[in-house]
Amino acid sequence: MSNECIFCKMIKGEMQANIVYEDDLIIAIEDINPQAPVHLLLIPKKHIPTTMDIQKEDSDILSDIFESAKHLAKEKKIDESGFRIVLNCNEGAGQSVFHIHFHLLGGRRMTWPPG
Ligand code: 5GP
Ligand code: ZN
Repeated sequence: MSNECIFCKMIKGEMQANIVYEDDLIIAIEDINPQAPVHLLLIPKKHIPTTMDIQKEDSDILSDIFESAKHLAKEKKIDESGFRIVLNCNEGAGQSVFHIHFHLLGGRRMTWPPG
């Protein structure tokens, strides 16, 4: 946990968040600035600053992220139309909150390559 981190504050209940899913290891919230009709953030409860800080012992968290993404994709009815999971690492890739989070985006046609 980090005192200044906004996602840690949401997890501790110190900051308002639209939590759509929670279990022992992760929460999922609605992104405040959605880039698609469905735009959720899947966030480990453990404060991991970037992809480069993920350790082998975090494998339970990662498998939970993907299990929960499947569950949420089904709930939001984007499982068959398609969705994208995005994890930005460091500023050059667009990371602005330094507590890892997986964007789950769907409900519109996605383009490739990403911007
Ligand atoms: P990043 O740019 O680090 O990959 O993604 C950070 C995401 O967090 C952005 O999509 C941004 O809109 C979202 N975000 C930033 N602050 C808040 C907030 O206070 N509440 C919510 N729900 N989302 C936020
Ligand atoms: Zn944090």
